Amino acid sequence: MPGVSPTGLAELDGRGVVLRRAVGVHPAHDGTVAQVEVAQVEAGLEGVDVAAIGELGWDRAHPPRDALVDALVELAKARGLPVILHVVGLHGHAVERLRRHGQVQGVVHAYSGSAELVKAYVALGLHVSIGPSVRRDGARKVIAAAAAVPDGRLLVETDAPDQCAEPAELPSVVDAVARARGATVEAIRQLTYDNALALFG
Ligand SMILES: [Zn+2]
Repeated sequence: MPGVSPTGLAELDGRGVVLRRAVGVHPAHDGTVAQVEVAQVEAGLEGVDVAAIGELGWDRAHPPRDALVDALVELAKARGLPVILHVVGLHGHAVERLRRHGQVQGVVHAYSGSAELVKAYVALGLHVSIGPSVRRDGARKVIAAAAAVPDGRLLVETDAPDQCAEPAELPSVVDAVARARGATVEAIRQLTYDNALALFG
């Protein structure tokens, strides 16, 4: 489960919920000062099983916070953790900015960019995760992107609760990705399972 605010997942503790968590600062989070938030994320890594740093990134609905993203990407690299990137509408900017960090392990989640930019993210070392919008017949851009991701970098997700009601809808996303790639459902299921394990452990 990804984090959207530096301390947001702490409330799950003590509820008997067993999840691997990520800690991050979503671009929609109404933040304070980057240094404070990065310190909060660092504190959130202590003593718990953290699978990734994220969400973090850029969203056209919110002012870009490049310094915050830079610091979180560097923190992830220093800790050997993957990042979960949220990028909506600012993919060109994101790629340009991420290139400053060299190779970056992680995933661009609920990918909404072009098939062309899939190559740029993959060249950076990133995985690309296809979300529920691929299920729509008219979603040509996402369908083309789903077909463009190399086998070893493909992931799937529901983006629940944003785009889907619940994670149980994942098989319908797998079905649509299989159609987009001309692959079998079983092949996509196995591929994305293996890729998720390799990335997040
Ligand atoms: Zn997101």
